[in-house]
Amino acid sequence: VVMSKEDDKSIPVRVALRCRPLVPKEINEGCQTCLTFVPGEPQVIVGTEKAFTYDYVYDPSSEQEEVFNSAVLPLLCGLFKGYHATVLAYGQTGSGKTFSMGGTYTSAQENEPTVGVIPRVVQTIFQEKEKHTDCEFSLSVSYLEIYNEEILDLLCPSVSKDKPSTINIREDPKEGIKIIGLIEKQVFSAQEMVGCLELGNSSRTVGSTAMNAASSRSHAIFTITLEQRRGADRSENVVSKLHLVDLAGSERQKKTKAEGDRLKEGISINRGLLSLGNVISALGDESKKGSFVPYRDSKLTRLLQDSLGGNSHTLMIACVSPADSNIEETLNTLRYADRAR
Ligand code: ADP
Ligand code: MG
Repeated sequence: VVMSKEDDKSIPVRVALRCRPLVPKEINEGCQTCLTFVPGEPQVIVGTEKAFTYDYVYDPSSEQEEVFNSAVLPLLCGLFKGYHATVLAYGQTGSGKTFSMGGTYTSAQENEPTVGVIPRVVQTIFQEKEKHTDCEFSLSVSYLEIYNEEILDLLCPSVSKDKPSTINIREDPKEGIKIIGLIEKQVFSAQEMVGCLELGNSSRTVGSTAMNAASSRSHAIFTITLEQRRGADRSENVVSKLHLVDLAGSERQKKTKAEGDRLKEGISINRGLLSLGNVISALGDESKKGSFVPYRDSKLTRLLQDSLGGNSHTLMIACVSPADSNIEETLNTLRYADRAR
């Protein structure tokens, strides 16, 4: 893999729209495709009139490799230069967030073309590290889930929804956002790092709702910390963080017939997505430069605070289904993603 030299241009937020193919269930139900794509243009058209333009648009024939090479690789380039970065997968349940990020990865999948963003990031970081012989590196990883505005450690096997979480967010004046009580595992090989992904994937929380039995009601954040020691005496220290985020389903509650506990989940998850939208649109809006960015409104945005905006790069991958039966949620996603640009 060759990393391009371009991209010091500080565009804080880029948006990719990714449309998955129709899934067998949609085909069986006779769903029609309601999205069309303009060849050579980063544009999607809904029905016959409404067009949306993004930084990148991936039609249903796009492969994982293409998404990775065009949209994610520039962020890794920045990471080695000391910039923080965040990749967010947004969209309704079933739209392809987990597929895109690699949240179902197992080592059996290793070299398959369906492998998603996270395992590709891991391979690339370890390859790239070998090229920088003037530098010493340490790499560490953490994997957490935000469920009901509570932080759960996916690398801790005893993770339990029944006990209150003891993990908390602190703001260190020097080091920025710190998560107290979370495992941060130092790793020495790509294999070891994807092993952490695999372990965490197997402990992700899933909630059953009327809309989708495997609907994901939580945000999952896989964080890689890269520490570089430069200079003849290795005294120059640069730390950069990459967050890879599989967001909770963006569908509105009424569709899921939420009740009791589930309703509480719905409300807090919406809080995260709502404040993320507010933060990202504040960052992208030139006219709002220097004005207040509402990071503190949710655990999600607090946790990502030092990797959204400022000296960091963000990519939002907005995932949609092409099926006409999902057109309302698809339009919501297209609008949310539009607001982020
Ligand atoms: P989400 O995480 O948003 O709920 P998933 O990633 O689980 O959605 O995707 C839903 C289904 O669609 C899965 O069966 C997944 O394998 C399939 N899928 C998603 N994106 C693609 C794609 N680009 N190509 C092929 N299948 C996909
Ligand atoms: Mg998912």
